[in-house]
Amino acid sequence: MIQHNIQNVQQKINAVCNKISKDFKDIHLIAVSKTKPVSMLQEAYDVGIRDFGENKVQEILEKYDKLPSDIRWHMIGHLQRNKVKYIIDKVSLIHSVDSLRLAEEISKEAVKHNITMPILIEINMAEEESKFGISYSECEEMLRIISQLPNIQIKGLMTVAPFVDNPEDNRQYFKSMKQLSVDIMTKNIDNICMDVLSMGMTGDYEVAIEEGSNMVRVGTGIFGERNYQ
Ligand SMILES: *Cc1c(COP(=O)(O)O)cnc(C)c1O
Repeated sequence: MIQHNIQNVQQKINAVCNKISKDFKDIHLIAVSKTKPVSMLQEAYDVGIRDFGENKVQEILEKYDKLPSDIRWHMIGHLQRNKVKYIIDKVSLIHSVDSLRLAEEISKEAVKHNITMPILIEINMAEEESKFGISYSECEEMLRIISQLPNIQIKGLMTVAPFVDNPEDNRQYFKSMKQLSVDIMTKNIDNICMDVLSMGMTGDYEVAIEEGSNMVRVGTGIFGERNYQ
């Protein structure tokens, strides 16, 4: 099932790429494996998936030792500052940096471990009360401050779009995210690159790619519905 699902997602990504004349290789697929057992991650790994997204520190720690070491773990959920120390040397990208204080903590731990941590800044583009992320208007100022912290490398932006029935409803947010990332790139701020635009989930990744996403986070579309009991 998982193999079939992955092929299906890859075919859809490929079709969008053809439509907008993009290279399939430039779109990074993150398999969002939260709540799913190690056996399912192994199945995805066996058909070539190396990027896995998780939203809980505890879950990354539990899975980390049981799976191959060439996996790139992506922290995509809200991260509490007191838990940064547990994953700083295990994740390859933190997508969900949503405050200066969190960035400061990541920087501090990265210095301790003598590594440079790549991060994305999470934007709450639709300004939803229930979601984490920095608002559009705060973004540039926040980026300028965070970019000066040691041992942190800002790689781009991330957003979690609203949950909608019709993915077209999110097109406006994806467009604004792309624009924001281009605006920031144009400013040539030291230690900030805008290579990554992490947006699009199972319900809307095709629209997200059309609007400039190059990193999609697909859970349900690969592993099936989640059961939160
Ligand atoms: C769960 C989750 C996803 C994947 O959602 P699906 O709709 O299952 O594809 C993507 N991004 C984040 C931040 C998530 O928490």
